[in-house]
Amino acid sequence: MDLQFNVSASGSEEPVNEGRPDVENVIIIGSGPAGLTAGLYAARATLNPLLLTGNDYGGQVSLTYEIENYPGFPEGISGPELVEKMKEQAEKFGTQVEYDHVTELVLDQHPFLVRTASGKEYATKSLILCTGARPRYLEVPGEKELTGRGVSYCATCDGFFFRDQEVIVVGGGDSALEEGLFLTKFAKRVRIVHRRDKLRASKILQERAFANPKIEFVWNTVVTAINPGEDGKVASVSTRNTVTGEEGELKTDGVFIFIGHIPNNDLFVGKLDMDEDGHLIVDRKMRTNVPGVFAAGEIMDKVFKQVATSVGQGTSAAMQTERFLADMEAEGYPGVHVDPREAPVELCRLMETA
Ligand SMILES: Cc1cc2nc3c(=O)[nH]c(=O)nc-3n(C[C@H](O)[C@H](O)[C@H](O)COP(=O)(O)OP(=O)(O)OC[C@H]3O[C@@H](n4cnc5c(N)ncnc54)[C@H](O)[C@@H]3O)c2cc1C
Repeated sequence: MDLQFNVSASGSEEPVNEGRPDVENVIIIGSGPAGLTAGLYAARATLNPLLLTGNDYGGQVSLTYEIENYPGFPEGISGPELVEKMKEQAEKFGTQVEYDHVTELVLDQHPFLVRTASGKEYATKSLILCTGARPRYLEVPGEKELTGRGVSYCATCDGFFFRDQEVIVVGGGDSALEEGLFLTKFAKRVRIVHRRDKLRASKILQERAFANPKIEFVWNTVVTAINPGEDGKVASVSTRNTVTGEEGELKTDGVFIFIGHIPNNDLFVGKLDMDEDGHLIVDRKMRTNVPGVFAAGEIMDKVFKQVATSVGQGTSAAMQTERFLADMEAEGYPGVHVDPREAPVELCRLMETA
């Protein structure tokens, strides 16, 4: 193999990434559950993976006070503790975790290039993209401070904590109604606060929500602040009527916000295929449209969005990466500056079977 990389961002030909190979086998982008699991599997497959954490070390799970639905922890586990355990396990088998944020990917040559905020440039034979997503925030006073103390973005995760309590759901789309319906299993009253007098959600969900005696709608209303009680947990929300401008207050124990989910896809725009919401499109083997580039977790999954599912997708992506690299090793890598999207027929055949 004749690959000459490691020309630094500054143009120097000195190796910039000390202790690392000139060309990485695999770089994993993201340190949420999908990325850390991909790291574990890639390391155990002796791929010597490099994992770049991004600015949000641990991903969304770090924001979670307690996780009760990740198998193996019957007593529950705090989000940050779970992240530490996943990282420790990935490192134990040889994943190198670097605290760095990726600023640019070059995918129209092979090996691919990864440039980071700290000025490093890596060449890599394969990539596992695990950049996740973030909930769209209301951006009102109290929201940030009360996240995990009554404010939630996940009914599956936190609904259980609101047994026989009152909750407010903010939003009017499918997610708001689906999650609102789910919350009726626990809460005694679910009020759905929506800025208009009509829902965007599908008809079937609307019918179910209207028929559910625990659900009430608060129309033409926006939440302007989330207020704590003396115990430091959510006690009420301040509201404004979008038609009359009238201000009000609704007492509640919890606020579930479902006004959208934003995939962290800036790096991939114009380079990888995405759906209309900006999630990467992958096949059942977690392959994107560029051979050698795989994706896992919420960057490609807009349906399940759980720690357990992200872990499973990270596993699949790493296993598939291992097969890809083994096949490439056996058959030869594409030459330098070959666009994998225009790779030779033989290579494409390999990709199909890998
Ligand atoms: C408040 C809250 C509570 C939740 N509670 C639960 C729960 O109880 N149970 C449950 O199963 N799920 C829960 N979830 C959902 C769960 O956290 C997510 O499904 C899971 O974290 C998704 O994992 P991921 O690895 O795909 O991405 P994420 O966790 O979103 O991680 C993305 C990673 O990508 C990195 N990244 C992004 N851009 C770049 C870049 N340019 N360069 C390098 N790195 C980058 C970020 O730094 C981050 O590390 C909760 C989510 C939230 C927000």
